[in-house]
Amino acid sequence: MQEIKCAHNWTMINVRTGYIITENCFQCNKTATYFCLEDNPPLEEHREGDHFWNVMESAQSIQFDLECDSCHAVASFKELAGLMLCPGCEEKCKIDQYRKEFEKDHIWVYIACGFLPVEEAKQLSQEKIFILEEYFNQRRKSTNSGIKIISYEMIDSLKNCHAEVIKDVGMLSLRAAE
Ligand SMILES: [Zn+2]
Ligand SMILES: [Zn+2]
Ligand SMILES: [Zn+2]
Repeated sequence: MQEIKCAHNWTMINVRTGYIITENCFQCNKTATYFCLEDNPPLEEHREGDHFWNVMESAQSIQFDLECDSCHAVASFKELAGLMLCPGCEEKCKIDQYRKEFEKDHIWVYIACGFLPVEEAKQLSQEKIFILEEYFNQRRKSTNSGIKIISYEMIDSLKNCHAEVIKDVGMLSLRAAE
């Protein structure tokens, strides 16, 4: 029997509202981010092993899963901290190069960010990034433009980019790119 491949039609499910907390350790200067639910407010300064974490920022955000209306496949996006859009930096910025490249075809490039530190937090798989891209493109009214999502692991460094993580709920409509 031949398996029929589903074209997938994604719907957002299990939306949880909360905060993305950014902490910094004053001992080793490490930065960590994580998601916490709304009724689980950010912690005060706390110790964890050799780390002394201080809350630097808390930004309202959501977590969600995507489910296919047709085959009911579910993808969880717990690893997603936010999306980034390069504002158009200088030549040094690799993301800007991508941006310019895709702009010709009216495609907006977003970078999917996971939580920090990148080496320790589980990052989004390429498969999930593709699903996210599919979801956003399916929701767009415009058919002559699109969205491309890349993993920031694909880019050796974000050092040269002035992009800021769009952590708020608004990122989900990607209005700027309509
Ligand atoms: Zn499907
Ligand atoms: Zn530390
Ligand atoms: Zn940039």
